[in-house]
Amino acid sequence: MDEFEKSKNQGTAPIPPKGNPYSCPDCSGSGLLAAVSPPAANKEFPHIAIIGGGIGGIALAIACLHRGIPFTLYERDKDFNSRSQGYGLTLQQASKAVQGLGIFSLKEGVISTRHLVHTPEGKVIAEWGTRKWLQSDIKTSSKRTNVHIARQSLRLALLEELGGNHQIKWGHQLVDFKEGETEGVELNFHVNGKIKKAKADLVVGADGIRSSVRRLLIGEDTAPLRYLGCIVILGICPLSVLQDLNSPLLDSATVFQTANGNERIYIMPYASDSVMWQLSFPMSEKEAKTLSAKGPQALKEEACRRIEWHDPIPQILSSTEEIYISGYPVYDRELLQPKLLEKSGPVTLIGDAAHPMSPFKGQGANQALLDALSLARSIFKGCRPLSDWRKTGIRKSALVEFESEMLERSAVKVRDSAEAAQFLHTEIVLHESDAPRRWFGGKEH
Ligand SMILES: Cc1cc2nc3c(=O)[nH]c(=O)nc-3n(C[C@H](O)[C@H](O)[C@H](O)COP(=O)(O)OP(=O)(O)OC[C@H]3O[C@@H](n4cnc5c(N)ncnc54)[C@H](O)[C@@H]3O)c2cc1C
Repeated sequence: MDEFEKSKNQGTAPIPPKGNPYSCPDCSGSGLLAAVSPPAANKEFPHIAIIGGGIGGIALAIACLHRGIPFTLYERDKDFNSRSQGYGLTLQQASKAVQGLGIFSLKEGVISTRHLVHTPEGKVIAEWGTRKWLQSDIKTSSKRTNVHIARQSLRLALLEELGGNHQIKWGHQLVDFKEGETEGVELNFHVNGKIKKAKADLVVGADGIRSSVRRLLIGEDTAPLRYLGCIVILGICPLSVLQDLNSPLLDSATVFQTANGNERIYIMPYASDSVMWQLSFPMSEKEAKTLSAKGPQALKEEACRRIEWHDPIPQILSSTEEIYISGYPVYDRELLQPKLLEKSGPVTLIGDAAHPMSPFKGQGANQALLDALSLARSIFKGCRPLSDWRKTGIRKSALVEFESEMLERSAVKVRDSAEAAQFLHTEIVLHESDAPRRWFGGKEH
């Protein structure tokens, strides 16, 4: 394939090999062997300070735990529930990655089998998903399922796999760090109004879109937050209050979206007994910040005023309680260039800290989970006992390879998510075709 691409697609295209239809009998493809307890931490590996106990940070801690890599996980929040973190995620390619983290079933996860796109009047202009494909007998991979789960339910499942709450140092906000005079990194945290010091061999910024590790490493002026021209308003509505509608769209297995070329609403199962809606539309950054700051009541009024569309959308919006409504302007950042990290020594980034993206492709958490597994595997391989990583340096031993894989894999998702923020709010979304809404290089497809 490399040769074919280098020759600018001359000659016959190679046929990609078929995936192995049988799972490994020992690990079912997860790469992990069942054990009563995780291996003891091996001090020959570097000690990792993970900053941020969100999706990516906890996943990295689990992947280190499974490999005997010592770590400390720091989170600025005081406890698991200290902020409202209410929105749902869709696990796409990362449903496989969670198995690599030892999680073989997500009990709170809901699988969708049908995806519909409507006009505001309720006419279906696109349908896809296993329900349609199986009916029309089109061959498709049965392995590709989308799992919908509340972010906090996924985070809780990860925390359980890690061994519980005490595995996180809550209430630790990273303030700064510097490379130690001889070796390692010295870190300062704000803890209960005091500064607390810590040390590590490697620092991983898993501290989200407004990452402090990233700011300390490359500054805020390099690839600052980039406004993507729209606002999203989110809400979670219990199905019990919508029962009388008897809508087939509310069967806990259907995802549907409706758009008019400006506003777009996307509704998916949040849990087996509730749905999450995400309304988005173009707005100036200033207006979006003002509306977001006005709070849930103003956001709900704006949503109900703009969307008087087909059933059950108006009923869902009006039945959503204000405590379950939030809204914010959408940002990402320009792609991180690998050379910016070249001089970062034993410090790296994962998840939104490295490559924040708009939520319109549902890829942020998926990429954060893949980053976590990839980094732990690189450390395990490059810094194994007797590898001399102290002399060679962690960057050369593990980080260069990891960052190049991570940045290449996520770049396309950042770009696609930014494009989706534009075209989902144009007439392109109303194109009739049974496939996810896409934009191919400046031309409708
Ligand atoms: C509405 C919405 C819908 C989305 N839908 C999807 C979806 O369907 N699929 C998908 O894959 N992704 C989705 N995403 C994106 C996804 O939520 C993020 O990409 C993902 O959570 C990123 O994980 P992370 O670990 O990098 O950061 P986060 O999960 O944001 O975690 C960062 C953590 O770091 C902590 N922290 C920050 N600063 C410090 C500090 N100085 N010291 C210590 N701790 C600190 C924070 O408190 C936080 O807990 C969605 C996002 C939104 C907003």
